[in-house]
Amino acid sequence: MAHAHSNQTILIVDDEPINIKALQLVLGEEHNLVFATSGEMALQMAMDEPQPDLILMDIVMPGMDGFEVCARLKNDDRTRNIPVVFLSARWETSEEAKGLELGAVDYIRKPFSPPIIKARIRNHLELKKTRDLLENLSTLDGLTNIPNRRRFDEIFIHEWNRSVRNKAPLSLLFIDIDHFKNYNDYYGHLAGDDCLKAVARVLQSSLGRAADFLARFGGEEFIILLPETRENGCRYLAEAIRGAIEKLHIEHKDSPVADHITVSIGAVTCIDVTRCDRALLLEHADRLLYQAKHEGRNRVKSQTVPDHVET
Ligand code: GH3
Ligand code: MG
Ligand code: MG
Repeated sequence: MAHAHSNQTILIVDDEPINIKALQLVLGEEHNLVFATSGEMALQMAMDEPQPDLILMDIVMPGMDGFEVCARLKNDDRTRNIPVVFLSARWETSEEAKGLELGAVDYIRKPFSPPIIKARIRNHLELKKTRDLLENLSTLDGLTNIPNRRRFDEIFIHEWNRSVRNKAPLSLLFIDIDHFKNYNDYYGHLAGDDCLKAVARVLQSSLGRAADFLARFGGEEFIILLPETRENGCRYLAEAIRGAIEKLHIEHKDSPVADHITVSIGAVTCIDVTRCDRALLLEHADRLLYQAKHEGRNRVKSQTVPDHVET
């Protein structure tokens, strides 16, 4: 049976060049291969983008051995999901058990049989592909294709902790489309869906930094997380977004605010995360959004917390 070359990449880790050559002969035709000749190098390469889809690793290596590398990979959120397969000349079941216990998906004994190693690797890569697909489906919003609330919750925790470590400010925008119920009633739900997609696209393209993070929070509400952003930058971006949505000029005849789609934004900056609370920050942004609505919509309300910083 012929197998097409996959676009998945295998990282092969072995300190012996001759072993690497042997694996290259068996797997090189069907897969993209990259190589590391030490545990330290493997750890580094596992972080590189694009990440390998599978790691095929020897156990006995000078310096950091395969078990140690595997333990570290499984202990790090960034590399936890890369399947690890051990390839070892050790036949003891205790070694195999140890490898699997550390989180490896398989343990293949040397000398290996080419057709068997090919088939096993193919199976593991197929599973990895399915898992990646599910992961994407469960963290992306189906309508707008941007991250969903669930993904936001994860990223928010991550960025919050990073801000604590770096003693950096953290800003957050809560964005809500004005009189969107009227829009749906007037133009229909499908037009409403198109409008949400257009707004999401504008929001996404308004972000300037790699760490800026946009998600659909629910219904016609969006949220943007702005790490290492102070009140000025936060307010500037919020105002730019409000203006960009106006400029889209999506007709909204039934809006009491304007003849086109507009948004209201609650913008909050936390200048000292150690003296704030995650849930409270969200609540705060929500309250500011409510104020923006109350004061007439199509506007930004911003604030900095905590109010008083003792110096
Ligand atoms: P406000 O200016 O106070 O925000 O008024 P609003 O009408 O935008 O707010 P409200 O919360 O009353 O209505 C939100 C509307 O958003 C109601 C709901 O039908 C619509 N909506 C939520 N999710 C979707 C969606 O996925 N597609 C469409 N087409 N409409 C949606
Ligand atoms: Mg609304
Ligand atoms: Mg709403």
